[in-house]
Amino acid sequence: MAKRLYKGAEFLISEAAADEVFAPEDFTEEQRGIAATAEKFVRTEVLPAEPALEAHQPGVAAGLMRRAGEAGLLMIDAPAAYGGLELDKATSMLAAERMAEGGSFSVSYAAHTGIGTLPLVYYGTDAQKARYLEKIVTGEWVAAYCLTEPGAGSDAMGGTTSARLSEDGTHYLIDGTKQFITNGSFADLFTVFAKIDRKHFTAFLVERTFPGVTVGPEEKKLGIKGSSTTSVIFESARVPVENVLGEIGKGHKIAFNVLNVGRFKLGAAVTGAAKHALGVGAAYANQRKQFGVPIGTFGAIREKLADLTADVFAAESLIYRLAGLIDDRLSTIPADAPRYYEAYQAGIEEYAIECAIAKVFCSEVLADVVDEVVQIHGGYGFIQEYPAEKYYRDERINRIFEGTNEINRLLIPGTILRRAQKGEIPLQREALKAMEALLSPSLEELDPSVPFAAERRTLADLKRVFLVLSGAAVQRFGDQLKDEQEVLLAAADVAIQVFAAESAVLRAAHVGARLSGERRATLEAAVKVHTFRAVERVATAARRGAFYVAEGDTLTLLLGGIRRFTKYDASGLLEAKRRLASATGEAERYPF
Ligand SMILES: Cc1cc2nc3c(=O)[nH]c(=O)nc-3n(C[C@H](O)[C@H](O)[C@H](O)COP(=O)(O)OP(=O)(O)OC[C@H]3O[C@@H](n4cnc5c(N)ncnc54)[C@H](O)[C@@H]3O)c2cc1C
Repeated sequence: MAKRLYKGAEFLISEAAADEVFAPEDFTEEQRGIAATAEKFVRTEVLPAEPALEAHQPGVAAGLMRRAGEAGLLMIDAPAAYGGLELDKATSMLAAERMAEGGSFSVSYAAHTGIGTLPLVYYGTDAQKARYLEKIVTGEWVAAYCLTEPGAGSDAMGGTTSARLSEDGTHYLIDGTKQFITNGSFADLFTVFAKIDRKHFTAFLVERTFPGVTVGPEEKKLGIKGSSTTSVIFESARVPVENVLGEIGKGHKIAFNVLNVGRFKLGAAVTGAAKHALGVGAAYANQRKQFGVPIGTFGAIREKLADLTADVFAAESLIYRLAGLIDDRLSTIPADAPRYYEAYQAGIEEYAIECAIAKVFCSEVLADVVDEVVQIHGGYGFIQEYPAEKYYRDERINRIFEGTNEINRLLIPGTILRRAQKGEIPLQREALKAMEALLSPSLEELDPSVPFAAERRTLADLKRVFLVLSGAAVQRFGDQLKDEQEVLLAAADVAIQVFAAESAVLRAAHVGARLSGERRATLEAAVKVHTFRAVERVATAARRGAFYVAEGDTLTLLLGGIRRFTKYDASGLLEAKRRLASATGEAERYPF
């Protein structure tokens, strides 16, 4: 039987079947092999080169990229016809996740394989692919993505870089400056966005050696110091007309669709970084003694390990669930479909909301992890000789690039509202149903034969919180809601927590039966700890939102509903935390 395809944002209004969720426990031998290759590559090639990368020694980063190409790590997303492996998103995310231990280089890697390569893969003509793609997937050439400008960051379409046709009609002449370009100092091919005749936002493939292209000096940064970030300057840069990428005036589609994958990939990479940092924190907690015992025996430290482990479990569950959703949808497109990549792009765009959630949730999990890993290190966490200090600095950028977390948060309810207006999501109907549920007594009994029955009921309730809050917001602000950012952010926070918590629960329900004894108990502990945290976060965000959208009796009703729908019986929470902390502490790594 064909697998059911879930629509984007459907998680907010219906329950997914646990056996249809993709989880890391489902990886094939081939996928595990690629993960092992990435891990080995980082440990044997990248980490030893870190000092040279941080010193920006010429040739080091480009040399590493070539060796990543030789190891097959650059060709995962590319079509077989051009030397690619054409593997699924789960594999692509797994490689990004395992490369994350490489710190700065993983940023170069993600930029090259993601936003650098994918515009060409998705929108390039056969001739463009023949000319560039093989060079890129082998690492002979490095790719970069030039969207941001000094005056146009979040407002990416507000750029002033311009293009005009040369008098003989053979070239476009590009003028403008792109800012903060990853891989800038050594990239060979730039995907550059410029407005033709100051009107038609268009993408161009620009070789570094084209006349009129220069690269600015390295930015001095807070973190990821071993990655290259430069401006790229175009002064009547001569770009052949055949290097227009995609359609003239449709550059925004390329820019934004590629960012969906970029955000998703960033979510995977930061999850890998969080797992790694957590292991370092756990090892330090075992080794450092105070008051005559390892600090890892103190409840204060153990609680941190437990909470962080639970959050990383949710992040990992979310990433691979999303990979499964996208892969299921993409696998329905026949390989010989005439406009294959158009359908492919639409398939990814369907999950634009989930991609934004992945970016925000996972980057904020990493932020919490590195912050607490510094704290676990005490004063040593502040000292450069210990790795926690670098993790702390390297983490910060993830909440800024690939769309700031504010922009990504706003995108979540913004897209939901737009799709609801188009009739694609029955938001109003579901909000009414949630309201009815709020006004009627709860008669449902928990079925103890259903795995994680309490958590699943809680999730159904958390979805009602989202729907009731959104319904009240629409009622209060109508069409103006799109401009009420404080309200939108509160709704986004609820949706983010729901998707993450549900991903963790569905994964556990999906794989739990395969586990027994201690491993199963650890899994159940992670679900309990994470669900409890998610419920608290939803309650906080929803209460905030309620005060923004309602007053008087409506406010009282809304607050009552939030109280009722954010009940979760977390009996045994302390024991669950202690079990989880022991699992991470004993393994000195993320235990799943
Ligand atoms: C190390 C590094 C590497 C990068 N790599 C690349 C790359 O390879 N290619 C590329 O094109 N770009 C790259 N960027 C640029 C990055 O994507 C932008 O910095 C980012 O999108 C934010 O833009 P900005 O810096 O202009 O901030 P601004 O847009 O000025 O934002 C400033 C603040 O205002 C908030 N804000 C802005 N607009 C809104 C709004 N409408 N509503 C609510 N809040 C808003 C933001 O969330 C933020 O908190 C990189 C940046 C860095 C630092």
